Amino acid sequence: MERFSIHNEIELKELLAENKIPAFRYGQIENAIYKNFVTKFQDIQTIPKDLRDLLDERCFYQSLSIDHEATSSNGQTTKFLFETQDKLLIEAVLMRHLSGRNTLCISCQAGCPMACTFCATWKLGLQKNLPLYEIVEQVMYAAKMLNWEWERLRNIVFMGMGEPMLNYDVMKEAIHVFTAQKKFDLSNRRVTVSTCGIVPWIEKFTDDFPQTSLAISLHAPNDDIRREIMPVDHTYDINRLMTSLDRYTDKTNKKIFYEYIMINWVNDHLKLADELGKLLQGRLAHVNFIPYNPWEGTSSDGYSTTPRFIIEKFQRTLEKYGVVSTIRATMWDDIDAACWQLARKKKEEEK
Ligand code: SAH
Repeated sequence: MERFSIHNEIELKELLAENKIPAFRYGQIENAIYKNFVTKFQDIQTIPKDLRDLLDERCFYQSLSIDHEATSSNGQTTKFLFETQDKLLIEAVLMRHLSGRNTLCISCQAGCPMACTFCATWKLGLQKNLPLYEIVEQVMYAAKMLNWEWERLRNIVFMGMGEPMLNYDVMKEAIHVFTAQKKFDLSNRRVTVSTCGIVPWIEKFTDDFPQTSLAISLHAPNDDIRREIMPVDHTYDINRLMTSLDRYTDKTNKKIFYEYIMINWVNDHLKLADELGKLLQGRLAHVNFIPYNPWEGTSSDGYSTTPRFIIEKFQRTLEKYGVVSTIRATMWDDIDAACWQLARKKKEEEK
């Protein structure tokens, strides 16, 4: 009989019911797994031996194996390259901020179908949607590591591999696991879903998750340039995108995080700063500039990172329109590649 993940609450509750085990045992198992970070069912002291044996027989704790793990020399960033049972590579990145805002960037798909030109996941195409347990296990692994450091995980961002809106139902369940008081117990606004802008799903998200934070990979203020680097813009142009985002802010009164990757000579002409300012003026917006992270074997030959002083000029221009922005720190330089790059690099090495 095939075993199922300990994170699968419904199946686990069914298993207990079938075996006439009182329902309160579920709470004890949940407490051991999510609060005490117990990794072996035999170590769950609060439940009887026959139940521990049953869990061993019918459930698994972890399906992902660690293919590669690296921590930056300043200790702030740890990258994980996981391998799934079906031999696909997925990544997560843990960022330890000095303020204690420990943030984990997770993957929701192996590969990605969206084909943004600057992104290293591009060439992989979509390999598969991750099931719930593969998403939760990324979080469990990092949360356990932080617990060992006497720290806590504070934020989760869906900014690793994949497009979360295309694995919507699983993402929905995952957010439940992250925010449930008896599980990871994060507040909803500390979970951020980042999307390239798939309008119908943004609308559904607005209705389902008015408390959860939303980030939009905008990367250009007009369709001409956005289309060159993000094919999704052919289907959902900026106008339609902004209409759906206005509905989100009207309904939630929450600001949206706009990601803007800075690629030299592509989307960093200073007139675009003006356009961006005009687009976001008066909207609940926070812009996050991401210096383009070059990766080997780029599909986008010739892309390079915008110099810092240009990014700062962009910032000052936005200020004139009352739009607040930050420049993302590249904390991971010395461990090579950003969160969407490790799997690719590994694949290249294997060739
Ligand atoms: N599909 C989702 C989430 C994954 S991408 C989305 O599009 O938002 C997470 C973020 O990393 C996006 O803002 C993406 O545009 C950015 N990104 C991808 N490749 C990058 C690179 N080479 N350098 C810098 N940022 C990159």
